[in-house]
Amino acid sequence: MKAEVLDTNWMAAGNCANKSPDFFFPSDGVGVELARQVCETCPVKMQCLEYALANRIDHGVWGGTSERERRRILKRRGAERRAAAQAVS
Ligand code: SF4
Repeated sequence: MKAEVLDTNWMAAGNCANKSPDFFFPSDGVGVELARQVCETCPVKMQCLEYALANRIDHGVWGGTSERERRRILKRRGAERRAAAQAVS
């Protein structure tokens, strides 16, 4: 596993550092929206998103994305990788 996948030093700089973890694991759409609002201005939003994607975290709001959005991103990246691989072969 790559080092950046394991690195969690960025977490201390997140807007959620002093919030309850439960806030970022909402049970409904309203909760997701509230969590996303906190993520919106987070200085480590991209690191958070990439961490969740790299570790295939499928629960909660990470980097301002819902579980469904992360699944879409992973699917799109996989399709892009396959297309790029076909283009060079
Ligand atoms: S992007 Fe959201 S979940 Fe990630 S560290 Fe920032 S506030 Fe926390």
